[in-house]
Amino acid sequence: MRGRPIETGRVVRGRIRPPGSKSIANRVLPLAAGAEGTSEISGLPDGDDVRRMLEGIAALGAVVQQVAPGSVRVTGIAGPPAGDTRIDVGASGTTMRFLAGFAATGSGATVLDGTQRMRERPIGHLADALRSLGASIDFPAVPGFPPMAVRGPIEGGRVTVDASVSSQYASAIMLAAPHARSDLEVTISDDVVSAPYLEATVEALQCFGVPVGRHETGWTVGAGSYRAQRLAVAPDASGAVYPWVGAAITSGNVLVEGLDRRTSTQADMGVLEVLERMGATVTQEPDGIRLEGPGRLQGVEADLTACPDGSLGLAIAAACAIGPSRFTGLGTLRVKETDRLDALENELRKVGVGATAGPDSLDIHPGDLRPASVATYDDHRMAMSFALLGLVTDGIVIEDPDCVSKTWPSFFTDLDAIAPPSVDVVAIDGPAGTGKTTVSKAVADALGRLRLDTGAFYRAATLVAQRTGAAVDAGLADELASHAFTYDDGVMRIDGEDVSAAIRTAEVTAGVSAVSAVAEVRARMVDAQRDWVRGSGVGVVVEGRDIGTVVFPGARTKVYLNARPDVRAARRAAEVGSDPAEEEARIRRRDELDSSRETSPLRPADDAWELDTSDLTIEQVVDAIVTRVRSS
Ligand code: C5P
Repeated sequence: MRGRPIETGRVVRGRIRPPGSKSIANRVLPLAAGAEGTSEISGLPDGDDVRRMLEGIAALGAVVQQVAPGSVRVTGIAGPPAGDTRIDVGASGTTMRFLAGFAATGSGATVLDGTQRMRERPIGHLADALRSLGASIDFPAVPGFPPMAVRGPIEGGRVTVDASVSSQYASAIMLAAPHARSDLEVTISDDVVSAPYLEATVEALQCFGVPVGRHETGWTVGAGSYRAQRLAVAPDASGAVYPWVGAAITSGNVLVEGLDRRTSTQADMGVLEVLERMGATVTQEPDGIRLEGPGRLQGVEADLTACPDGSLGLAIAAACAIGPSRFTGLGTLRVKETDRLDALENELRKVGVGATAGPDSLDIHPGDLRPASVATYDDHRMAMSFALLGLVTDGIVIEDPDCVSKTWPSFFTDLDAIAPPSVDVVAIDGPAGTGKTTVSKAVADALGRLRLDTGAFYRAATLVAQRTGAAVDAGLADELASHAFTYDDGVMRIDGEDVSAAIRTAEVTAGVSAVSAVAEVRARMVDAQRDWVRGSGVGVVVEGRDIGTVVFPGARTKVYLNARPDVRAARRAAEVGSDPAEEEARIRRRDELDSSRETSPLRPADDAWELDTSDLTIEQVVDAIVTRVRSS
């Protein structure tokens, strides 16, 4: 097991979109499967649950096409599925329940089965409800437990669902209801657990235009066909907690994209109010929620019953505050991935914080933070929370960092992107021919800094593709992984060979836009660029097309150079001795490719300083940038 040291002295800044909410994803997918037409769904999180759901709806007859990482097109069945199939749900509870409901609307038999653990999870209440609507349900092994064979159709009318064990039974019935023969009134009996999840189900139905009426004890869902939709799955608010807490404790400022405080029913949105009471400023913006950290947080007392997952992040905020904090309503933490209350108490004490866990409470007395190797108890939230602490104090090492893969496999890379290294980065972005290279060299010289030309990395990747004949697709990233790319004093090397001249040929220039559009290639090159900056010392100038937006969104100075295409073409033509008209056509083509690609399109960062260099001399541009860096 390799621990991950967290580099300290970093500030969380910029914007981020945490992985999509799994519970929203697994509601909209079965709805897309029953819809009329082709839905486009983006923002799907990685992971087994969503993969099983995608396989399940495909088995039931929907046509699923992956268009990009996290994005699919689903052509729906336009009604109940035919059935006569077998679905292995693995360990995914939502897939088991929601697809049992959907399959029970069709007239063929569908058998649903899963892992040994799934076979131990009861599903009898759902079977009872479906039977009362006319479905026939068989349990070939143990009554009330998977495997389960279902056959529809189901009538409408009224049904009562026992939601005291799991709200998913009720959700399963509601998601299936549009395919019943008439409208269905769903009544929830007993104390419903996890009411916000039922709200998520209602929202998903409404998203697809399915009419839902609300009563005191439940909902009426309208039967009938509904249309496919184009939608982005909202980020998981439980994930958003980490960038927010990160900004709160580092006096940073971060925008979490895709969440709306006014309409979201996700439980962990509750952490925002607590962070506000601790001194943070929260603002709803058109495309997400911004949190700005104060100089120092204040301790707080809060009942966290409604947002138990978020309490781990809040414990870290409390550890960084002035004055003690007391959190209550945390009884459920003892039965999660680990006994989280004990885990928090142990690890907070290790780093020098006074922490006392009660049966359902946690008292935190901030102390002098000290280096420690933090155990994660195979709990992704422990790992992500204590990584944040590492931003403000030296010597925090996260044991078993890989456990974040449960909900956020790229967490550490994403954190590095919004909390860039203490190295001060001047980002100079812009299209070809704007003078980026000359300007960035002069700015680096004037400031006495190293300079990184990131275009050289994509050119080098293109050279590798051309030399090896590798196809320009995701597989190229594997080929690139077997080479070492280094950049030193303006010299680009592949496995030690100086390729500075070889990457400037017309052939490479013609091929580079296609190579740089491959997401997997970019991921590799971005890692290499960040490593270079991390190893470089104190201050750097980085030139590229996505430096301010993707590679270092937290860069202190972001400049976006631009110029009219004819001016840029004339500059290029003079530089390489080509025909200006042909050069302009090439430049326009490259601009088009670079700015229309799906991954990291060329665009100015929201907070970039845009400079049109058409009518300026190089000296004027350099002076302006240097003055700005020195005065900021
Ligand atoms: O700057 P230069 O012309 O050398 O960049 C070559 C190509 O590499 C660009 O046209 C673009 O497709 C790609 N590139 C990129 N992101 C960067 C730098 C370059 O996509 N940060």
